[in-house]
Amino acid sequence: TEVALRQAQKMEAVGQLTGGIAHDFNNLLMAIIGNLELIARRVEDERIQRYVRNAMHGAQRGAKLVGQLLTFSRKQHLAPEPVDVNQLVGTVAEMLSRTLGASIRVDVVTHKNLWPALVDVTQLELMLLNLAINARDAMPDGGLLTIKTNVLHGVPEDLQAELRPGEYVSIAVKDTGTGMPPDVLARAFDPFFTTKEPGKGTGLGLSQVYGFARQSGGAVKIESELGRGTVVRILLPRSTEAVVGHEDRQSGTPRVGA
Ligand code: ADP
Repeated sequence: TEVALRQAQKMEAVGQLTGGIAHDFNNLLMAIIGNLELIARRVEDERIQRYVRNAMHGAQRGAKLVGQLLTFSRKQHLAPEPVDVNQLVGTVAEMLSRTLGASIRVDVVTHKNLWPALVDVTQLELMLLNLAINARDAMPDGGLLTIKTNVLHGVPEDLQAELRPGEYVSIAVKDTGTGMPPDVLARAFDPFFTTKEPGKGTGLGLSQVYGFARQSGGAVKIESELGRGTVVRILLPRSTEAVVGHEDRQSGTPRVGA
C-alpha cells in the first residue's frame, strides 16, 4: 500500500505537470497551424507550399501527441454511462482477431453476471486497443491474448490507497509474451517511457490507460513475469443503473470520438 500510494502521488504530480504543459502546447500548436493555413492560402510557389504542408503535418502530429498527454493528465473530457462490458470486449476481441494476424489467438472469458460499469465507452475501447497493441508487441512470435471480465465485491488490499470502498468491474488483458523486468515494470506508467524503437512506441499507451482509469474512478494494475507474460487489469466502478439500449442512445447527443 505504501508503494501504491507513492506511485499514485508520483503520477498525480507528473499528471499535473504534463497537463499544464500539454495545455500550453495545445494553444501554441493551434496558433502555428492557423498561421500555416493562412500562408498556404496565399503562396503560389509549389516548393514553398510543400514546405508549409510539411510544417503543418509536423504540427498536427504534435497536436495528436498532446491529445494523448491530456488523456493521461485527466484533462480529457469523459462521458461516463452504464456500459455492458461483456458485449464491448466481445466486439473488441472480434476486431482484434481479424487485425492481429494468425499467429496471435484472441480469447474472451466473461463473467456471467457482470454488472454494468460506469465509464466512457469510446475511451474504454481505445484503452483496450492500447493494451492489445502492447500485448501484440510483446509476442513477436505469436501467442495468446486473453481478455477476461470479472466482478469485485470489495477493494483488494493493495488498491485501498487508490480506490473508494465499493464494487468494481474488472477487465484483464493477458498475454503470453516477453513479460517485463522489474525496472521496466516500475516505470511502465510513466509518460514517454518506452523500450521500443523510435517511431514504434511513444511511451504514452500505459500512461493514458492509467489516467483514464483514475479519471473514471477506477484503477489499473500490472502483473508481469519475465519470459511468461503480462496481465494488465483495469478496475472500473460498477454502475447502479442499467445499460441504455443502443436505439435510445442514438436519439441523444452524438458522442464525439477522441
Ligand atoms: P509504448 O507501448 O509506446 O512503449 P506504453 O506506455 O504502452 O508505451 O508501454 C511502456 C513500456 O512498457 C513498453 O515500451 C514496454 O517496455 C512495456 N510494456 C507495456 N506493455 C507490455 C506488455 N504487455 N508486455 C511487455 N512489456 C510491456
